[in-house]
Amino acid sequence: MEKPDIVILGAGYGGIMTAVKLQKMLNMNKSTITLVNKYDYHYQTTWLHENAAGTLHHDRTRIPIKDVVNTAKVNFVTDIVVSIKPDKRKVKLQNGELYYDILVIGLGFETATFGIPGLKDNAFMIENINSARLIRDHLEYNFAMYQYEDGKNQGRLNIVVGGGGFTGVEFLGELANRIPELCKEYDVNKSIVRIINIEVESTVLPGFDPQLSEYAMSSLESRGVEFITGATLKECKHDRIIFEKDGKESTIPTYTMVWAAGVRANAILEESGFEHHQGKIEVRPDMRAPDYDDVFAIGDCALIMDRKTNTPYPPTAQIAVQQAETVAHNIKALVKGTDDLDEFQPDLLGTVASLGNSDAIGDVFNNRKLFGLKAVILKKIIDNRYLLKLGGLGLLMRKGKFNIFY
Ligand SMILES: Cc1cc2nc3c(=O)[nH]c(=O)nc-3n(C[C@H](O)[C@H](O)[C@H](O)COP(=O)(O)OP(=O)(O)OC[C@H]3O[C@@H](n4cnc5c(N)ncnc54)[C@H](O)[C@@H]3O)c2cc1C
Repeated sequence: MEKPDIVILGAGYGGIMTAVKLQKMLNMNKSTITLVNKYDYHYQTTWLHENAAGTLHHDRTRIPIKDVVNTAKVNFVTDIVVSIKPDKRKVKLQNGELYYDILVIGLGFETATFGIPGLKDNAFMIENINSARLIRDHLEYNFAMYQYEDGKNQGRLNIVVGGGGFTGVEFLGELANRIPELCKEYDVNKSIVRIINIEVESTVLPGFDPQLSEYAMSSLESRGVEFITGATLKECKHDRIIFEKDGKESTIPTYTMVWAAGVRANAILEESGFEHHQGKIEVRPDMRAPDYDDVFAIGDCALIMDRKTNTPYPPTAQIAVQQAETVAHNIKALVKGTDDLDEFQPDLLGTVASLGNSDAIGDVFNNRKLFGLKAVILKKIIDNRYLLKLGGLGLLMRKGKFNIFY
């Protein structure tokens, strides 16, 4: 290939790691790399629940792209991808158009609302820095309003989290830590604040080891979280939610419904005409799209099967980062004109879910269960390891988590 144009869409875990790897692996006289992202910063999606609860400032979570990407080697464009035309090898941006020889799609996820009435308009989602910051400010606003208004409106102090999966549980843990601070700041009696989780399954963290799920629930309950399991959200209005449990509908007054019960791939994939499964491109083992030898999909945009279990790998940052290694290696092979393409083989270390800053659970290293402090420490190691990998010691020192209880 003669000086191919390599275009990477999205600077999330998968996209930015691909760019960082390629800038080291490729000779810039022999290819051009362009990275496109909506914002001029990369953010760690896995920390957004902390920003949303207000337990960690969002500036800790975002990293200026120019701090990790060498702009002498990678052309960085801040713009919004509107559509992809794979038959013409073109990407339409809000402010222009790009031609590519090789494309990497790393546009991440969107929240799935499953057509539940009112959810899209009235609920909050933990999706990016802007939405997380909005939740933090909205929480504060409602505590302030509770004290300011004449009639005491309980809806201001009821916080409902939809979904008891990984994101929902991690957010509940942060809320449980944040609420006592808010109560102190706004002179609110902690006993009247309600943090309520609504989960359709009979337990939170379905799919996790039951002992870990039980531990998570009792840790959160001991800090005031209420669980309504086996319940389906029917509607979300701006000042209340309606759910159904055991065939009976009930209402909870609330101005704060945070929906954390499902993600899907960025809708651009579907709209651009790629063959997809529930919005994701089911990639070949070398991470390329089925019909296009010049298009790679990565992270939450890619569906790749675990051939041992015949189930898709879950959408995680851990997998997105590992896929970047395969994608970068395979792009190098295409640029060199060889067919030495690697197959993606994840090296899964397990999963650790935080339950606030001082508790966590983990299922790691082939079903070893971790609880409490050990899991808390492991979670920080995972976070810090990513920073080291992305931007070296300098980035780790600037953004790393070193205080165990912070
Ligand atoms: C609160 C929370 C906690 C999580 N915790 C964990 C965890 O502990 N461990 C774990 O492994 N996974 C976790 N996950 C899942 C993990 O964050 C995702 O799987 C991961 O972010 C996927 O990486 P990605 O590169 O595919 O996309 P993302 O990291 O989502 O990045 C997508 C990028 O594309 C950009 N973009 C999107 N649309 C456009 C557009 N139209 N134009 C230009 N740019 C665009 C975005 O700005 C973003 O930079 C968590 C998720 C959430 C929400």
